[in-house]
Amino acid sequence: THFGFETVAEALKEKKVATVFSSVASSYDTMNDLMSLGIHRLWKDHFVRNLNPGSNPLTSRSPISPGWNILDIAGGTGDIAFRMLDHASTLNHDAHTRVTVADINPDMLAEGRKRALSTPYARTPRLDFVEANAEHLDMIPDASIDLYTVAFGIRNFTDKDAALREAFRVLKPGGVFACLEFSKVNSALFDAVYKRWSFGAIPLIGQLVAGDRDSYQYLVESIEKFPSQTEFRDMIERAGFLVPGKGWEDLTGGIAAIHKGVKP
Ligand code: SAM
Repeated sequence: THFGFETVAEALKEKKVATVFSSVASSYDTMNDLMSLGIHRLWKDHFVRNLNPGSNPLTSRSPISPGWNILDIAGGTGDIAFRMLDHASTLNHDAHTRVTVADINPDMLAEGRKRALSTPYARTPRLDFVEANAEHLDMIPDASIDLYTVAFGIRNFTDKDAALREAFRVLKPGGVFACLEFSKVNSALFDAVYKRWSFGAIPLIGQLVAGDRDSYQYLVESIEKFPSQTEFRDMIERAGFLVPGKGWEDLTGGIAAIHKGVKP
């Protein structure tokens, strides 16, 4: 690109994201509850229940590796990973499904590892943590993953298309890409209320509870900039995925949405 501006902007964004998540890591879980009035838990529960990890095989696999091989990208403090393993074990009586939590930020991973100690999965082959950038998953072999999840992560990625291409590469044929992310609210009235909350209250709560207004201001702005449901569905298709139905499910009037793609 001209004068390398794009590269500089990308490097700055990556640095900004790193600073934001390092500074919010220790207060991240409390802040999620406050900012979403606890609703993020319901969305995450629904996301996992709907994917039904550990049920029938998603892809053909050898008898020596039963269970699903799940990669939770931008897995942060482990919210999705622990839910996946609980669901597989409790509802599907599957003790083999395993999750790799990958995140670019060592501080978020450290919080995740700490939280894992109060689950049955710490130091078992069912759970591991790796520091990785979603755009370059060199340590994950081609066609090795049954389910790729990313919850509230992709809007922070500098090159979302590169991340989608990596998701496609690491999934097995028949494997599923599933993304839970903030999205666009459907009704104008609800949108007005929601914008007041997010632009007004969230940075303020950030300041009061975590002593960090700027990071929470960044989080709100990153939500605003993220593509609409249809635009994101088209990006998933362009990466090579087959998109079931209309391609997404709105949650709470479109505040969040679940997008899915299947690798043919
Ligand atoms: N998935 C968790 C959840 O739902 O609670 C954490 C979401 S948190 C809002 C976003 C996470 O994305 C942070 O942990 C951040 O470090 C991570 N992240 C940002 N850019 C990334 C990238 N390029 N590759 C991998 N992780 C990234």
